[in-house]
Amino acid sequence: ISHTRLDRFIGEHLHISRRDVRLMLAQKRISVDGQAINEIGYIINKFSHVQLDGETLQNNQAFYLMLHKPVGVVCATVDEQHRTVIDLINHPAKNELHIVGRLDLNTSGLVLLTNDSRWSERLMSPEHKVAKKYLVTVKHAINKEQEQSYIDAFVKGMYFQYEDITTMPAFLTVIDEHQLEVQLYEGKYHQIKRMFGRFQNPVIALHRRSVGSLELDAKLMPGESRSLTRDEVNNIF
Ligand code: URA
Repeated sequence: ISHTRLDRFIGEHLHISRRDVRLMLAQKRISVDGQAINEIGYIINKFSHVQLDGETLQNNQAFYLMLHKPVGVVCATVDEQHRTVIDLINHPAKNELHIVGRLDLNTSGLVLLTNDSRWSERLMSPEHKVAKKYLVTVKHAINKEQEQSYIDAFVKGMYFQYEDITTMPAFLTVIDEHQLEVQLYEGKYHQIKRMFGRFQNPVIALHRRSVGSLELDAKLMPGESRSLTRDEVNNIF
């Protein structure tokens, strides 16, 4: 990830030797996030504010956005055929952003974008168990007798031969005969559609409602986006 030793960063940035950097550190001329650092091997990241004699050497800002992705827009940065989520965003640093967990072309709902790869990697790693909730509309009615077999199969996990994986436990809540909420902790290729495919029940609409504690802002119309608040960034896990 984007971790670097402070002495190395300074050396490369100013084209000076590690020995000269050490001297500067000892003289307390270097600060990180406002604090003088005199520690060989101190670790910084892309968003650490690094100063020498009060002059900024690095001060990158982290950006976090939520987008209400419409159907028909592709989760990619460039695409020949379709509009991309980046095309929808109006942000000065939009070309630095990456997508946190893609949705299929015909899936709508919450998409997160950031330039902070530590945050996005943590959100996406199955070990961190961040729940993603989807509203699913299926073609064929699921009656009371069938409900439990769906629920059980999703909890048990399904084996996909193509990738040679078994899905992690996923949780279904039945809303009505055609609508369910699915809670996943991972995102395999077309996972929800393929899982309902096992029941010969095509998914006709799919919408992501939330990632972790963060719900799609009901005020955002399809295609609209906004920045996350600091609390939303920190409390999502
Ligand atoms: N599962 C799918 O099948 N598609 C998505 O976009 C997300 C989850």
